[in-house]
Amino acid sequence: MTGHMNLFDNVNRQFDEAADILGLSQEIRELLKTPYREITVAMPIRMEDGTLKVFKGYRVQHNGVRGPQKGGIRYHPDLVLDDVRALASLNTWKTAVVNVPFGGAKGGVQCDPSKMSQHELEMLTRRYISKISMVLGPTRDVPSPDVNTNAQTMAWVLDEYGRKNGFQPACVTGKPLELGGSQGGEAGTGKGVAICTREAWTKVLGRDLKGARVVLQGFGNVGSFAAKFLHGMGARVVAVADEAGAVRRAEGLDIPALFAYVRQNKGTVAGFPGGEPFDPASVWAQTCDILVPAALGGVLTQATAPEVQATLIVEGANAPTTPEADQIFRDRGILLIPDILANAGGVTVSYFEWVQNLQQLFWNEAEIFEKEEKILLQAFRDVAEKVKRHACTWRTGALVLALERVTKANELRGW
Ligand code: NAD
Repeated sequence: MTGHMNLFDNVNRQFDEAADILGLSQEIRELLKTPYREITVAMPIRMEDGTLKVFKGYRVQHNGVRGPQKGGIRYHPDLVLDDVRALASLNTWKTAVVNVPFGGAKGGVQCDPSKMSQHELEMLTRRYISKISMVLGPTRDVPSPDVNTNAQTMAWVLDEYGRKNGFQPACVTGKPLELGGSQGGEAGTGKGVAICTREAWTKVLGRDLKGARVVLQGFGNVGSFAAKFLHGMGARVVAVADEAGAVRRAEGLDIPALFAYVRQNKGTVAGFPGGEPFDPASVWAQTCDILVPAALGGVLTQATAPEVQATLIVEGANAPTTPEADQIFRDRGILLIPDILANAGGVTVSYFEWVQNLQQLFWNEAEIFEKEEKILLQAFRDVAEKVKRHACTWRTGALVLALERVTKANELRGW
């Protein structure tokens, strides 16, 4: 996933740029970079072919000064502890940018779910949760879905946590509706990506979204809903690439049809009849106005950044851009809306789910989307103000905002 590159170093380099603007001391930087707690666990699982496999799982709680730790659970064969640290720290800054009362965590298991049965995945999830459940809970750490995990996974998390602690739906978000999940929970991240794209394209760049050409990498939870809402706003999604294939159509893909196709086609856009197939590796070079990476981290690099045709990049994925690529985009005058703002709709709706679970009272989808939009627009304005004040990039502006909020909370609680 990340090759030789270290996502945690990248995130900390971004952090330092914002810390420089704020003049933070080395002591405070050290404190804010170092994860609060890290757990590594081993999960021996008897596989269906009779072999015993030992999986490695992680949970990193980066910072909890503003509230319970919050972050996704990722299942991926290349997952390493340093990536989990990076993603946990991004969540600390993300929850602060949207000002929801959570800290930042991340977890996951090094495994390849495409080679595992549902039963094996359930056993693995239960073993993982049972081994880390002592640090979880509605007031401690609240997991959610991420790459290769979904509402079913979160249902197993709820059940396994409940075995020791009783039925506490607020212990996990991204649950199925039948178990206390939230309306808009599935769509929340993609919806937020679309809102941030619209704001950046129309308000910051002063352009019209009607007919604007969008290219996406990733058509999973984030990418597919981002495409759906952008299509609904009048944008033209001209190319989509995922792990198994890629399709394009210059006049714009029929997104509702693609959305339905992917859900009946093992989750991939490969073979979609409404477009022309192309090499997924060339996704960055596709002609477009707006580029949305919505798959994995570390994909926009020194090598791929010069190929990008877009004038706006909106980070649906976490940490898709290396610091070198950031510099290239800056030099080329390409506007980039960073992950900690662009995909923060996910944690925002997770926050609503947690609130509804604690109150045992539920909101409808229109209420959820309205509240989500309000929070994101506020965050967008807050970041825009930092960008203006410090004449910095949107990534640095968002980090400045987050660092101010986290350091203030930390100072009030006591170092
Ligand atoms: P997902 O598992 O639902 O979908 C991942 C998508 O990426 C799939 O379309 C997959 O085919 C594609 N992909 C994977 N490897 C690829 C590769 N090598 N090349 C091209 N495409 C590849 O995951 P998701 O939940 O949509 O998460 C996507 C990104 O968004 C991740 O970076 C995640 O951390 C971030 N994110 C997710 C959420 C959320 O609510 N799910 C919230 C914030 C950020």
